[in-house]
Amino acid sequence: MEKLNASSRRNPCPICGRTKDGDCRISDELVLCHYGSSKHPPQELKPGQVIPGHDGQEWAFTGDAKDGRTATYTRHKPRRTSHQAPVQARQSQAPTPQLARLESPAKEPPAHTPNGQRINYSSTQWVEIVRNGNDKKHIPHHQDDEGRAQRGAGDEPWPLWRQDDAITHGQGMWIAEAEGEKCGAWFRAGGVVAISQPGHDHKPASIERRYRNLVEAGVAGVIYLADNDETGRKKAERCAAAAATVGLQLVVIQATDVWSDMPVGGSIDDAPGTAAERVAAVVAAIPVGLNRQHEVGHAQAESLTTAQAADRLRDAISDGITESELSVLVTDLASESGQTHYAIKQIADTITREQRSAAAIRAEAAGLVSEIDRQDIGRVLTTHYLLPGRIASAIEIRSRYLPTDGPSGVLPFLAAVAGLVKLGTEVEAKSLCGSVLRCNWMYR
Ligand SMILES: [Zn+2]
Repeated sequence: MEKLNASSRRNPCPICGRTKDGDCRISDELVLCHYGSSKHPPQELKPGQVIPGHDGQEWAFTGDAKDGRTATYTRHKPRRTSHQAPVQARQSQAPTPQLARLESPAKEPPAHTPNGQRINYSSTQWVEIVRNGNDKKHIPHHQDDEGRAQRGAGDEPWPLWRQDDAITHGQGMWIAEAEGEKCGAWFRAGGVVAISQPGHDHKPASIERRYRNLVEAGVAGVIYLADNDETGRKKAERCAAAAATVGLQLVVIQATDVWSDMPVGGSIDDAPGTAAERVAAVVAAIPVGLNRQHEVGHAQAESLTTAQAADRLRDAISDGITESELSVLVTDLASESGQTHYAIKQIADTITREQRSAAAIRAEAAGLVSEIDRQDIGRVLTTHYLLPGRIASAIEIRSRYLPTDGPSGVLPFLAAVAGLVKLGTEVEAKSLCGSVLRCNWMYR
């Protein structure tokens, strides 16, 4: 059997990342990962379950040691099919998400947020907690142009709760997102940067706008802790879709991934332990969330190939799909094909460009056709068509050395006639060319 080496600073445990001592044992193919107090392997895994390791490789959990002190992992050897290979290659290179940390942990939130408590979103936007018995409401407020406090959200778009922290500390890092400021406060008390969506505005476009701010600040991704109920799962889905639309990575962790006995509706604020322990438990569950996402990605990669996704994009774009419909379709196809949102968006952009240039060519062709039509009308609109034969012949003879075409010569002639006769008069034009000219058809 291959030699097992102790974990160390130069030989970190690929499962728990342990470097401070030699409690985990590691070889190329096998890891015995120690259940320590600060570092430990993910809990609640089933034998055979595969997790992404700290070393960027995939490791399969095979079971716990008899004494329960270590978990055994073997290097995962994925069964590859041709179209799955790139998906798996990309995933195995993905480093484990690291949560951005605050300079120092915040205070733990009280069990009950007091009535009238103000929770700031910006210098002019805040939420007030209004308690009525067991009922707790979050009432948005804003400052108007005269500096007066007004009830209601106001016209300005709302940022994320604690968005400034995310932007200050989040570059290249992952940010924790919780449902509601109180759960966010537990993350902060555990020392990590946390955000939350304002409760009064969960519109997809608003969430996308807020996530776009994170992308622009270089935030690597969001670890989203969902409440343990249907509403929690729906909100998580909506946030995941918005994140995908703007190209932000988002991994959903269900509260039950972290605490298997979490009551319905519960989250980090109902969990046991200190804030630091609660955050450590969430961090330990990140591989579970990642793994679920990968499994979904793998299952879907088999259902839709990139070529099929491109076909559906081409059909939709030539049918004149709107920008917002296209953005939804890109998100759907990305999830159905297991490709990144970015990759599908690139395909959509290429097809849009192709079709735009095809449209430009069609427009140019249409322009050429109408130019040809105009020239044809020019041929029909002759002097003889406009004027009686003998006048036409006379004008053509007189204008033959002039740089004008026949019909252009008609205009000065008619202008000259108009100066001599009133409109509607029938004139003898013998003095000009010996013919009778009926002007009224032209001068009405
Ligand atoms: Zn370990």
